[in-house]
Amino acid sequence: MKNQTLNRQAKSQLAIFGGTKTLMSPPPKWPFFDKKDYEALQAVLESGVWGGYHESVREFEQRFATHHNAKYGIAVANGTLSLEIALTAAGVRPGDEVIVPPITFVASASAVARIGAFPVFVDVDPETLNLNPTLVARAISRQTRAIVLVHFAGCPAELDSFLPLCKKQKLVLIEDCAHAHGAEWNGQRVGSFGNFGSFSFQGSKNMTAGEGGILITNNARLAESARSIANQGRRTGGAWYEHVNLGTNARLTGFQATLLINQLERLPQQVATRMKRAASLRAGLSEIKALSPTPEQLDQRVTAHAFHLFSMRYDPDALGGVQLDRLVTALQAEGLPVTKGYPYPIYRNEVFDERPHTINPCSVAEAYCRSCLWLPQNVLLADEEWIALAIRAIKKVCDHAGELQTSPIDKPLQAQPASGHE
Ligand SMILES: *Cc1c(COP(=O)(O)O)cnc(C)c1O
Repeated sequence: MKNQTLNRQAKSQLAIFGGTKTLMSPPPKWPFFDKKDYEALQAVLESGVWGGYHESVREFEQRFATHHNAKYGIAVANGTLSLEIALTAAGVRPGDEVIVPPITFVASASAVARIGAFPVFVDVDPETLNLNPTLVARAISRQTRAIVLVHFAGCPAELDSFLPLCKKQKLVLIEDCAHAHGAEWNGQRVGSFGNFGSFSFQGSKNMTAGEGGILITNNARLAESARSIANQGRRTGGAWYEHVNLGTNARLTGFQATLLINQLERLPQQVATRMKRAASLRAGLSEIKALSPTPEQLDQRVTAHAFHLFSMRYDPDALGGVQLDRLVTALQAEGLPVTKGYPYPIYRNEVFDERPHTINPCSVAEAYCRSCLWLPQNVLLADEEWIALAIRAIKKVCDHAGELQTSPIDKPLQAQPASGHE
């Protein structure tokens, strides 16, 4: 009898050691679609206009630009080409320096290298993980032509500093909004502040057509230039076989545009839901010392955060030194689709080894990559009950962290975000 009780007590509550899983259901599957999407796709299918520019492409460009209070929208094939095209259209030339952040997807810097310009990596702000404006100001040289400003995880960068800085130094500002559909700074949607706003509609993004991208701008000359480059150097109103610029084919199809029109309609509601759920998560985390959201406090000027990622920092000292990998594996076993974040700042990728670039000291970025974990955006579209269970799962794992320290774990960690996540 006594032995049995002891056995029962010794059995772990943690799912990773055979205890009951906290979250029995997964979060909502991304992307969302309904009957409207079938009908929209069928209409494009039956139109016969599968390539070229189906009318839905123009409609989507207009709607997306209007949504951002921008004059022009130029739909393109993805959010990497959009950056390359924006840089070229804005006059960035081979050999120019372009300031980029180290905490982002590789495309924010590889697009710079693809057009022959040189990425200059500058450290990020410890709270937002966006480019630190003070350090950017110090990194500007006579060769600097542009800044690629990423709104990491959906949190707007410090535009009140970057706008006057770019004006004073005559720098091109490209906002990389691949994480930031619907994010707002002082009530204005991001993407509409810089010379160009660049968006991705890749599968993991908060608006998606599987692949796709768009540029927005308020400048007619830049818009025409970008449109021309994306469409084989053609001129608006020109003949089909008249090519005035060195262009490429970066066209978006009608199938994608028609899906994106529906996605844009759902976006405001989804942004609001993600912000509500994120607030609940943040409230829950306030009692958990080991994990803190980034940023810890939302800046008053961030009137909407897009929450492409719910980013957290882990402090192993708060859990007796338990390794991040072990914590993540234990949380995954509870049914929480958490992963580690970027494994290292992007300048550590081999691609940059043989190419001209500059790395300024990035201790904040380095430390973040060692301690970050992320929840993907679809988690924040779950209901409040699910979020409450997610908090319970985190609390449970933290309360039993001692077991993670001592017991062997044979379950492999799903270290990278689900395939296709950027
Ligand atoms: C996804 C992403 C891109 C690239 O977009 P694609 O459509 O996948 O080419 C660029 N920048 C950032 C920050 C991204 O997350």
